[in-house]
Amino acid sequence: MSGLRREPLLDGHGRRIEDVRVSVTDRCNFRCQYCMPADGLPWLRRDEILSFEEITRIVRLLVEMGVPDVRLTGGEPLVRRDVPSLVRMVAGVDGVRDLSLTTNGYLLERDADALVAAGLRRINVSIDSLQRDRFFQITRRDALPQVLRGLDAIARHPEVRPVKVNAVAIRGFTEREVIPFCDLARSTGFQVRFIEFMPLDGDRAWDRDAVLTGSELRELIAAVHPIEELPREPSSTARVFRFRDGRGEIGFVDPVSDPFCAECNRIRLTAEGALRTCLFSHHETDLREPLRSGADDDELERIVRAAVWRKELKHRVGEPGFRQPARTMSAIGG
Ligand code: SAM
Ligand code: SF4
Repeated sequence: MSGLRREPLLDGHGRRIEDVRVSVTDRCNFRCQYCMPADGLPWLRRDEILSFEEITRIVRLLVEMGVPDVRLTGGEPLVRRDVPSLVRMVAGVDGVRDLSLTTNGYLLERDADALVAAGLRRINVSIDSLQRDRFFQITRRDALPQVLRGLDAIARHPEVRPVKVNAVAIRGFTEREVIPFCDLARSTGFQVRFIEFMPLDGDRAWDRDAVLTGSELRELIAAVHPIEELPREPSSTARVFRFRDGRGEIGFVDPVSDPFCAECNRIRLTAEGALRTCLFSHHETDLREPLRSGADDDELERIVRAAVWRKELKHRVGEPGFRQPARTMSAIGG
């Protein structure tokens, strides 16, 4: 790999880290029930968040340690000014293999062309309902038509593939969405993926019973459309199935009912420059202070390695004594 100039990045359990999720902002224009409180959260100040140059420097260092897959996320990444410039900077780092973006799609109609021109080739758009009133209920924003226009705008670029649509699966809500989402997957090239609801919500209302599991979803689907599983890609968090008639695919990310921690190859960087080794971590490692006080790359490397070495063996969601982390998903970077 052209970027690998340093030793690979390994954790203390023998897992090799190859994927980093970078949150570009903690801010968001939605207030999804499973993520943020209705009133929002106190935002970070401008000077508290990493600059594009600081993000790019960390990405370059990680790529040199064999972390070639980079996802930009948030908060809502596109509410930060000029994210296409950041895409261009990260895409230009030698050794980046896969650069993708996760967005709620609200500003995608505005930004699709600029993102593609900057080098974006993969995108995930989060949509939890294909019905306007139910979309409003979940996101607390009446924005489905705008999001669907964004999805169309990005799908017009054939170089951006796959386009994935992510829906959080919540009991009592998602059951009615399952078949419409299958129809979407079957009638477009979009890969729809259901993600189990995790205890990272601002309202702290998560409970095990609210998780509509992947196997329950597959049963609902199989009753209408026969599906069969495709071979799992290494380190992929999703189990992907194809419709037996060959029309489209559907995926399931089941972190609660079927954890994939043993194969976890990711780390996360929050908007203010904290390195997190697990979604559910209770500790994190500040990279901003050393960055801003003049640490050279070798010093930063030592800090990153020490943090990653202590990466959690697994999450304890659903186990007695589990404590939800202080940060919500929006403040981590999902
Ligand atoms: N704002 C962008 C978006 O919504 O796509 C990017 C950030 S969002 C935190 C990233 C992903 O996390 C979204 O697909 C969202 O649905 C998912 N997510 C947020 N809270 C979650 C939760 N409690 N459980 C499972 N997934 C969650
Ligand atoms: Fe915002 Fe994404 Fe969280 Fe929804 S899931 S509140 S869009 S950060």
